[in-house]
Amino acid sequence: MNALVLIVVAVAAFQGQAVKLTVPSEADLRSVTIEWNDRVKPFARDEDGWFTVIGVDLGAKPGEHTADLLFTYTDGRTTRVVRTITVQAKEYPTTSLTVAPKYVELSTENQERTARERKEIGAAYWKMTPEAYWTEPFAVPIPGITGGRNFGHRRIFNDQPRAPHSGADLTATTGTEIHASNRGKVILAKNLFFSGNAVFIDHGLGVFTVYLHLSEILVAPGAMVEKGEVVGLAGATGRVTGPHLHWGARIQKARVDPFSLLEWQL
Ligand SMILES: [Zn+2]
Repeated sequence: MNALVLIVVAVAAFQGQAVKLTVPSEADLRSVTIEWNDRVKPFARDEDGWFTVIGVDLGAKPGEHTADLLFTYTDGRTTRVVRTITVQAKEYPTTSLTVAPKYVELSTENQERTARERKEIGAAYWKMTPEAYWTEPFAVPIPGITGGRNFGHRRIFNDQPRAPHSGADLTATTGTEIHASNRGKVILAKNLFFSGNAVFIDHGLGVFTVYLHLSEILVAPGAMVEKGEVVGLAGATGRVTGPHLHWGARIQKARVDPFSLLEWQL
């Protein structure tokens, strides 16, 4: 019997959801990759077999999408398997917010700055670390916190529509310790116009988490951080209405709800 039949049965996922895919062990299997959203990413090994993670972007078109899996064996033989991933629409509410006018009507200088920062952030998310740095489940960066379920909300700032919310806002007073959701490498730790003091962590396999609006950054780019390590203190820097933590997640370019990372059974 062909073991490939067992992999990834039907997959259905919501817009903004991170999905873990697994493939059972096979003695002579050397590598597995998946092509999803025009990008190829590897599976990593764990004790049960092979796994990777894909993200269904918040703006992904509902309906059937295909993902190509490529299996390469030690003798050089390859097998391609096409799987259907059904994207389900999710309704997100609209939130209206009032912020300092400079964050809505951007000066020429700030338009240039945000364009530069968009490129820098885009380049960071382009990076594909072919292994998983993490071995434990992901965790909320403020232990014990509830709420923060405002991922995907459509947003109106000072009466002007803006991009939907790409993270979860966790209530936190200035100075609250912010813990890394999981093990990973700090790839960006600096002040950004909209995000304020920001820390970006690469967890490997194209999975990133971000911690924004910090009052203080306590890690440097290039540092490996352990799960739970304090990466900064909560604050109210950048485009905010008050102190809180914006916790975000990306799987490659896909904007996903960081809470969906917690649902993986690892
Ligand atoms: Zn936010």
